[in-house]
Amino acid sequence: MTSHILVLGAGMVGSCTALHLALRGHAVTLVDRREPGRETSYGNAGIIQREAVEPYAFPRQVGKLLRVALKQGADVNYHLAALPRLAAPLTRYWAASQPQRHARIARDHAALIAHATTEHQQLITLADAGALVRRQGYRWVFRSPAALDAASAQARRLAEAHGLRIELLDAAGMARAEPALRRPVAGGVHWLDPWTVADPGELVARYAQALVQHGGRLLRGDATSLAAAGSGWKVRTDEGEVQAGQAVIALGPWSDALLQRLGYRYPLFVKRGYHRHYRSATPPQVSLYDLEAGLVMGPMRQGVRVTTGAEFAALEAAPTPVQMQRAEALARELVDLGPPAEPEPWMGARPCTADMLPLIGAAPRHRGLWLNLGHAHQGFTLGPVSGRLLAELVDGRTPVVDPAPYAPTRFG
Ligand SMILES: Cc1cc2nc3c(=O)[nH]c(=O)nc-3n(C[C@H](O)[C@H](O)[C@H](O)COP(=O)(O)OP(=O)(O)OC[C@H]3O[C@@H](n4cnc5c(N)ncnc54)[C@H](O)[C@@H]3O)c2cc1C
Repeated sequence: MTSHILVLGAGMVGSCTALHLALRGHAVTLVDRREPGRETSYGNAGIIQREAVEPYAFPRQVGKLLRVALKQGADVNYHLAALPRLAAPLTRYWAASQPQRHARIARDHAALIAHATTEHQQLITLADAGALVRRQGYRWVFRSPAALDAASAQARRLAEAHGLRIELLDAAGMARAEPALRRPVAGGVHWLDPWTVADPGELVARYAQALVQHGGRLLRGDATSLAAAGSGWKVRTDEGEVQAGQAVIALGPWSDALLQRLGYRYPLFVKRGYHRHYRSATPPQVSLYDLEAGLVMGPMRQGVRVTTGAEFAALEAAPTPVQMQRAEALARELVDLGPPAEPEPWMGARPCTADMLPLIGAAPRHRGLWLNLGHAHQGFTLGPVSGRLLAELVDGRTPVVDPAPYAPTRFG
């Protein structure tokens, strides 16, 4: 039976959820305080990561931990003041990263990732957004032979286990493939299955436009005004109060505040990240992930976008773009970046759960309330399949993947 459903949050996850619900005949109102795709889903590295079968584990090697503790890389930073609040979810993240548990979690992560590009393709076709997408994969690039050897072995293992296509490149191969490199590197791994998007926020906006074309409504409103109304839910929007039988929370990093108000205590936290664009005259052909430096740089509509790793800090704390400064300097060693395109770096926050899997399913203690959040490093990749899964759960249909690993009941 179809019904009126509110979807709160028009990032990649909420927009895909709203579109999938509308495609199944529901009357959908998508509510955001901004235009669609202007927050985390705008500022990411824009890679539809078909290869990201294993989620990022908490580092367990002493050397790496020490480097993190001493804030030496561009990959990780933290605010001391945030650590007391982060201690509980990070302890659980550490436990979930224990190799055997991580292997089980990776199996469940891979089950979603397997649908990343096929599910995006359906929405790209509906939204007529093909011109934004490049299907040439992206490259890991390595400065040291030791890092190249370790990563090549890992890539071969993952490619074999998951049917992924890779091309291993030595120093000469990398120089030929990527003329933008201004110095020799040890080599690289070209992942051939991922796609890259020239303007990630625009892709979300197109999906939200497709929702409107399929009968949905897109309204500005404040999700924190969500309240029970009769047997359903209501929220305040610029067009007045909107009531619906059901509601979906897809507020990315802002979900936790609303969930806490509703009485839920999930082990959620954010990993903040930064980006900046540069007006390079010689941009890389495809996105490059420099794993040793902890940065990604990719050709985008706005210039070469350099993105940083994780910053453990409170969502609303003032930006501290030290990683961006380091990432810029390290990226300049590899590519002639040119001048920055905007005065300040952008900052966003990856919405993370302690067990590295998103929360997709019914809210345990509220009828007609659903959650679709916590997609961490891969929310841009997983929006379409997560939206489809949530819509199938709402309809009681056979879901695209077994929903049990992502059930919001799993944290008790
Ligand atoms: C530097 C960086 C690089 C990344 N690179 C990649 C990548 O290459 N590939 C990938 O798959 N993922 C990547 N990610 C992760 C990805 O961007 C996120 O997982 C994803 O964007 C989360 O989407 P979302 O829809 O859950 O959240 P968001 O995009 O943040 O959407 C949440 C929405 O909720 C709205 N909202 C918040 N509060 C309210 C309120 N009170 N009322 C109304 N609306 C509200 C916001 O305006 C926003 O539109 C990266 C992230 C970062 C930070």
